[in-house]
Amino acid sequence: MATYAVPLKVQDRVAKSVDEIADEMISFLQELTRIPTVNPPGRNYIAGAELIGAKLKEFGYATRYIAAEGLVEHTAEHPRMNVLGRIDGPTPRPNLHFNGHFDVVPVGEAWTVDPFGGLIRDGKIYGRGVSDQKAGIAASIFAVEAMRRAGIKLLGSVEQSGSVDEESGGFAGVAYMAKSGWIDKDKTDYVIITEPTDADRVCVGHRGVYWFKVTTRGRIAHGCMPHFGVSAIDHLADFLHSVTQELKPALAKRMTAAPVEPPGSRFASINVNAVFGGQPENGVQTPCVADHSGAIFDRRFLAEENFEDVRGEIHHMLADLHARNPDFNYDIEDLMVVHPVQTDENCDLVKAMKRGVETVLGHTPKLTVSPGTYDQKHVVRIGSVRQCVAYGPGILNQAHQPDEHCRVEDVVNSAKVMALTAIQLLGAESAK
Ligand SMILES: [Zn+2]
Repeated sequence: MATYAVPLKVQDRVAKSVDEIADEMISFLQELTRIPTVNPPGRNYIAGAELIGAKLKEFGYATRYIAAEGLVEHTAEHPRMNVLGRIDGPTPRPNLHFNGHFDVVPVGEAWTVDPFGGLIRDGKIYGRGVSDQKAGIAASIFAVEAMRRAGIKLLGSVEQSGSVDEESGGFAGVAYMAKSGWIDKDKTDYVIITEPTDADRVCVGHRGVYWFKVTTRGRIAHGCMPHFGVSAIDHLADFLHSVTQELKPALAKRMTAAPVEPPGSRFASINVNAVFGGQPENGVQTPCVADHSGAIFDRRFLAEENFEDVRGEIHHMLADLHARNPDFNYDIEDLMVVHPVQTDENCDLVKAMKRGVETVLGHTPKLTVSPGTYDQKHVVRIGSVRQCVAYGPGILNQAHQPDEHCRVEDVVNSAKVMALTAIQLLGAESAK
């Protein structure tokens, strides 16, 4: 496949059409912001999916609702509902799929505006989930609609999906859609996930994640005679000591060649997410040697690190402690593994996005890799779609913050970029 050049005349028509549709786009974004699709627990997903679905239908898409049937998180109280719309061109391929998650993280404290009010002030729209990432959903839907109204007919097919649960792993959202074949290399060529990239960066992938739980075992005894027992907490302390004194300095020396932003996240890292053990913090305390303890760890690994080595390194540290002290008994359990993904910077999708940003904003976008993870993993690992990026108008460092907001101008500009990208990837014929 190749990309198509966009004639200047068409560029101008796209820009003009997006400008004309901008007010409509922002009021749709306000409506979407006013639905508190908070996750956890996953509130108002039906209302969120239906608002997006109704707009897609109005704009000529064939729509379908995809409930995550069979997953434990899909309950009567909190149904997991995704929506998918499709517009066919003269040929089904190439296919460009825009995906945005409409779940938002809980509000938290320190807000000075209504988090679900959709307030617009000084050129910014406020609300929980505006940047992350309802603005991206509005931008992609109206990017395609602006072309339709300008009489620009795309030659391939376009899909738009609104998905759930990205903030909690995306298993009932993009992973479910990919497993069910809705996002799949046999039908999908390009995926743009409309996560916040400040409208002028293109995110090509993310680092890997390894969450694991270590439980240490001891033997209970009276706290006044601890020499009769074995303290599981002391054992956990030994392991934590190895983590901070040996592992952390080793990880700080491993740096990826990938353009991870912020640069401080270009190194491998580990964080202790939780510690537990001994008697319950709020219970009545009795003098006992703790017979169990443990911690949950969040290890972020680089594309250059092999996952089996990453896991092996932890197992080796634990085995070493056991070898030095036979009383050191432990279990280790994998909680979550996400492999790093990175789309080839020279693929058509990245080239088209770069040119789109250059045309609209006048500068070459920075290509970045995310320190965290998002739904790209499911698109690539389950759907086997290789050309996938994140690009959208939201302000990345506003995500999950109080008074979350997004610049209206960024929503407009990124809609223009998305439209120009679509024309380059699918080709277009101009009706007028
Ligand atoms: Zn997000």
